[in-house]
Amino acid sequence: MKKILFVTSEAHPLIKTGGLADVCGSLPKALAELSQDIRLIIPNYQSLKTTENVRFLSSIRVDNRNINLLETSMPDSHVIVWLVDYPAYYNYPGNPYVDGEGEPWPNNAERFGLFCRIVTEVAMNRINQDWAPDIVHCNDWQSGLVPALLSLEENRPATVFTIHNMAYQGLFPSASAATLNLPGQLWHPAGLEFHSMLSFIKGGLVYADFITTVSPTYALEIQTPEFGYGLEGLLEYRKEFLGGIINGIDLDQWDAEKDPNILQCYNAKSLNKKLLNKAELQAKYGLPVDEDIPLFGLIGRLVEQKGIDLLLDCLSEMVTMNLQFVLLGSGDKVYEKALQAFADLHPDKIAIKIGYDESLAHLIEAGADVFIMPSRFEPCGLNQMYSQRYGTIPIVRKTGGLADTVIDALPETLRNQTATGIVFNEATPSALLEAIKRTLILYSMPDSWKKIQVNAMSKDFSWQRSAEQYLALYERL
Ligand code: ADP
Repeated sequence: MKKILFVTSEAHPLIKTGGLADVCGSLPKALAELSQDIRLIIPNYQSLKTTENVRFLSSIRVDNRNINLLETSMPDSHVIVWLVDYPAYYNYPGNPYVDGEGEPWPNNAERFGLFCRIVTEVAMNRINQDWAPDIVHCNDWQSGLVPALLSLEENRPATVFTIHNMAYQGLFPSASAATLNLPGQLWHPAGLEFHSMLSFIKGGLVYADFITTVSPTYALEIQTPEFGYGLEGLLEYRKEFLGGIINGIDLDQWDAEKDPNILQCYNAKSLNKKLLNKAELQAKYGLPVDEDIPLFGLIGRLVEQKGIDLLLDCLSEMVTMNLQFVLLGSGDKVYEKALQAFADLHPDKIAIKIGYDESLAHLIEAGADVFIMPSRFEPCGLNQMYSQRYGTIPIVRKTGGLADTVIDALPETLRNQTATGIVFNEATPSALLEAIKRTLILYSMPDSWKKIQVNAMSKDFSWQRSAEQYLALYERL
């Protein structure tokens, strides 16, 4: 049994802004189910949803500050959670990273710098708990300084750093290195310095014993200038210690057979019941209720990464086709407005909801026929896996985790029953449009369509498989 300290800035259902929370909610649970002694550590934000008893654990003094550690457990499992409690830094409302205007909290370097300092103390068993982890598993830039700080310690635990998205690096002015009281040995271009800035992510990339990212294809892509954001050279240099492990999905939450958020549960043998969810979804969005018309869906952050511009360029042609389209998301205001304008012009074909709605997201996965995910890059992506589980055929661009989890419907893959979706290559509107047309042709052939649905629904995306790969890595380290 390994002792694992799992370090994250978000974990569902405690707090979530995106896929990072889904992963950091499910992976510790899956590792606990493999009988590992795992503890999750996270800042005690104001909006954290803790339901279990929270008790005082320990008090730590760092940089003349007194910080408390509290203990609770995940609301939906027995995974122990340690909360870093320092109200002056974490007792802010709403989002962990940005204020109500979407601007980063001005002291994010200090907030996550302190978090990393405390994690280091916990990792070194200096909090009077007699619990010394074998492995410290860090996630994304907010925990990036931990491997760097630990590299200076004797008899330290092994470190793993997982990249969930290279686009977010935690870059701050160089003066922050002094404000944070970082040891001088870490401040050089082969350390935490990146073009005269302090880079949190480099702490993970340079100093972790092993780097993982959330799909094998993304692990290769980030070694190229297109996806590496200037860090491709470092990643290539460390490629012996870099690998991809695809995320799983939480089947307690995302399973068409037992999903409390949808009108009618179903499985691969009762696909006709999926149609009741389709009707419910059409009605909810104010579209004509029609079981024959192919219904396309999209859920996600409306940002360039997700290829929303490609979709916008296709919409004027899509409205001439026999299809409907529903969208749930929020993000870039320019995209929100442009999408709304299309919906206003074509209310019988296009309907959108701007906002965040967990339960509606489930209904879209269950009710849509097709899920569109034209991402420019996608470290792993979850919705394409949820879609397959719900027999909702994903259209994806061949990048990152999308390339690793969806098998294109081609004559051969249809024959050998491995086809689970539609895959296109180029990040262009015309390539996406081709894929949509190909999807419509397949949809018009009910036997083929049903076969793809059944293939998709029977794929194993469980966390157990991925957790076993992480465990094998921990054991190797
Ligand atoms: P990313 O982490 O880049 O945002 P992922 O596909 O990995 O993308 O994960 C996104 C997660 O957030 C999924 O669980 C998705 O359903 C959810 N999500 C994104 N936007 C919304 C929204 N507007 N309403 C409900 N859920 C959303």
